[in-house]
Amino acid sequence: MSSWNCRYEVNGICKKVDGAYCRPGMKGCVLVGKVKFQDGVVPPPVWPARDGESSGDPGGSDPRR
Ligand code: SF4
Repeated sequence: MSSWNCRYEVNGICKKVDGAYCRPGMKGCVLVGKVKFQDGVVPPPVWPARDGESSGDPGGSDPRR
């Protein structure tokens, strides 16, 4: 069995996509185009909630999206 570690991942956070959660294959990830998803849709980045925001809001008003 082999494993792969991304050099941009630190404690589950992606340093390439501006601090979003690491979601291998998401938009902006080094793996875009190298992996295929069952539904064929490249997932968008999701950022951890900042103070005063609700968490896990993938359709929120974060201007970085
Ligand atoms: S989302 Fe992609 S580029 Fe970012 S840390 Fe995860 S594997 Fe690496």
